Amino acid sequence: MADTKILSISPANPDLRIIQYAVEVLRSGGLVAFPTETVYGLGADVLNLAAVRAVFATKGRPSDNPLIVHVAPNIKLDEIVDEMPEKGQFLIDSFWPGPVTLVVKKTILISDLVSANLDTVAVRMPKSNVALALINGLGEAMVGPSANLSGRPSPTTAQHVYDDLRGKVDVILDAGPTEIGLESTVIDVTVEPPAILRKGGLHQESIERVIGAVQLGTGDLQRRSPGTQHRHYAPRAKVILIPYEHDSGFAEQLRIHRQQGKLVGCIVNSPQLVKLEAGESFRVLPSSIPIFARYLFRTFRELDALGVDVILVEGVPEDGIGAAVMDRLRRAAQG
Ligand code: AMP
Ligand code: MG
Repeated sequence: MADTKILSISPANPDLRIIQYAVEVLRSGGLVAFPTETVYGLGADVLNLAAVRAVFATKGRPSDNPLIVHVAPNIKLDEIVDEMPEKGQFLIDSFWPGPVTLVVKKTILISDLVSANLDTVAVRMPKSNVALALINGLGEAMVGPSANLSGRPSPTTAQHVYDDLRGKVDVILDAGPTEIGLESTVIDVTVEPPAILRKGGLHQESIERVIGAVQLGTGDLQRRSPGTQHRHYAPRAKVILIPYEHDSGFAEQLRIHRQQGKLVGCIVNSPQLVKLEAGESFRVLPSSIPIFARYLFRTFRELDALGVDVILVEGVPEDGIGAAVMDRLRRAAQG
């Protein structure tokens, strides 16, 4: 493939001619990057195995990391899901379309390639008129992992997709920056109590209000979500995570790394730290955690573009979506 087309599209009222064009690309086995409320996804027809293989190859995604299957109202869920537990249905009724992905038993129509040889499939309905129109137009579900190179921060703008995958995807539908900025929450409803395998856009508190107590996937359960084992969400620079409001520790790390001749980027949000410095590599994010989440991956990418060696990032309080933010920060810092 020589060219990647970026097509601007209205997030609220997508132009159906553009959707139809993208649908034709998917029908012929092509790859279409599409916006969702979480991050941009890399779409392919779930039934076209050559296209699904191309998704893994394009991202450099290990084949043991299963793909999320994206659906829309016109898609028959029972062709994908063999058995929907009652709690899964409650979550669907309460939160779809929205940032929660259910792990359920799959039907034989879902290839082992998609599920990485598991007998389950991860499925979600994204809250984006563009994504829903695309899936409804295709008339089939679409695989849709994040549209980044494997391991990099997920893309929250069309430009991020282009930066990672230019020349390797056919079309990028550009509906502007994504709202949530972090991936969906993945919850396994085949176990009791259901297990959160990946923290994300829908918080545990909201889930528990609907289905009661959940467990956090650890040990064996976590091993059933192979994607969470790989290094993830990481900028090129080394990331050092410093606890929220630990301002003396932050300043100390900054001094040490500069003494070593390192170019240091900073991401802060607490009132104590925002006035520490100013400048291009010193990024102040809002202390509102949902907005911090929205800009986090973009800020990682921007600091990488400045060529910093190290990123010092201040954590956030761990409630609500703060739990998912801290999960991503810890994984980025593991690198
Ligand atoms: P991504 O689409 O890149 O945001 O990643 C999808 C996430 O969902 C990864 O963490 C996968 O491991 C997880 N996932 C997908 N399918 C399954 C499944 N059948 N069982 C458990 N986890 C899954
Ligand atoms: Mg991903």
